[in-house]
Amino acid sequence: MNCPHCGIRVSEHEANRCLDAWVAEAVMGKPTRHNAEHWMGWHWTTKDGMRVRWYSTDIRAAWEMLCALQSKARIIRVSNGDGDSCDVNILADALSNGQSAHSKIKDGTLENAPLAICRAALKAV
Ligand SMILES: [Zn+2]
Repeated sequence: MNCPHCGIRVSEHEANRCLDAWVAEAVMGKPTRHNAEHWMGWHWTTKDGMRVRWYSTDIRAAWEMLCALQSKARIIRVSNGDGDSCDVNILADALSNGQSAHSKIKDGTLENAPLAICRAALKAV
């Protein structure tokens, strides 16, 4: 699974606005567009003109995205793993094979939690 904007694989994608836009589209169902000239610097907006939220770096946005995802998938675990990693498991009921989508960031910290949540969510939808 690769980013529709930059082509980077989901498991290697950095936390940035490109990933935020991908999450907005794939998980939140909000088409986005890139406005290089936006007067407020809102480079990534949804079609209704709102800023794309910082899902991959803001734990509050990531958490709200998880809440929205619950209509499509069952979240079974979000944890900081063994203490030096961020570990996110999402059971994607929407998948016919019932597989779980998993994202673990090695040597991650809680600061990486939004990124791990985004990667797991993208795998789950
Ligand atoms: Zn990308």
